[in-house]
Amino acid sequence: MSKKRVVYEGKAKILYEGPEPGTLIQYFKDDATAFNAQKKAVLDGKGVLNNRISEFMMTRLGAVGIPTHFIRRLNMREQLIKKVEIIPLEVVVRNIAAGTLSKRLGIEEGQVLPRPMVEFYFKDDALGDPLVTEEHIAAFGWAGPQEYDDLISLALRVNDFMSGLFAAVGIRLVDFKLEFGRYFEGDTDMPRILLADEISPDSCRLWDFETGEKLDKDRFRRDLGGVTEAYAEVARRLGIIKESGETDNVVSFTGGK
Ligand code: C5P
Repeated sequence: MSKKRVVYEGKAKILYEGPEPGTLIQYFKDDATAFNAQKKAVLDGKGVLNNRISEFMMTRLGAVGIPTHFIRRLNMREQLIKKVEIIPLEVVVRNIAAGTLSKRLGIEEGQVLPRPMVEFYFKDDALGDPLVTEEHIAAFGWAGPQEYDDLISLALRVNDFMSGLFAAVGIRLVDFKLEFGRYFEGDTDMPRILLADEISPDSCRLWDFETGEKLDKDRFRRDLGGVTEAYAEVARRLGIIKESGETDNVVSFTGGK
């Protein structure tokens, strides 16, 4: 497909060396995995939709002052991004109980939380991305004290903005996962924290406000079917793809590489 040098290959994305120093190309695959890659499938068109949805979110977050790694979309499956040193933490924000919060603490799925909750998970597939506390983060140096505070405030700002954005199109933002990286600009050894990775229905729980219908990766995790169609519905509501009929087109059109 490409002669570009692969820098990293993950479950749903590939990072290639970028055209200029300090840049990378982020390629969105159609592969879907869940439960630490124990469940796998290829969902035609998912990568194209996630590329577009993530572009939309990163661009809008950038416009309200959240620094992100996104530079520009290059084509259907690729975007140019700033190269960062990834902070080895998954930052999860929750508004409504679901997923591992419900499972771990016995909180009924769908219960509105008294306030948004921020959780940290150590990024380590072999360990199954365990939940960690501030103590672990400080003791093992995964993020400094200032970085830790910045991660929480950035995550909550992203939550406020995205909750409103989704609510405006009839979608409840239940929870989501963010990743951040350190960006070393020029010769400075004081990095800036940028929002990295992706924001898409792979990394968010999105429920229709009226029906409660799931419009995210839980459709795949729970074998509900219609995964790509749900992602296309999110893109349609956000105005990324056109209203009628085009959903089917996008899914079939994007099937190719
Ligand atoms: O599974 P859990 O309930 O902890 O997930 C919380 C949120 O973080 C969900 O939106 C899920 O899609 C996202 N997540 C993710 N990648 C992971 C773990 C969780 O995108 N490795």
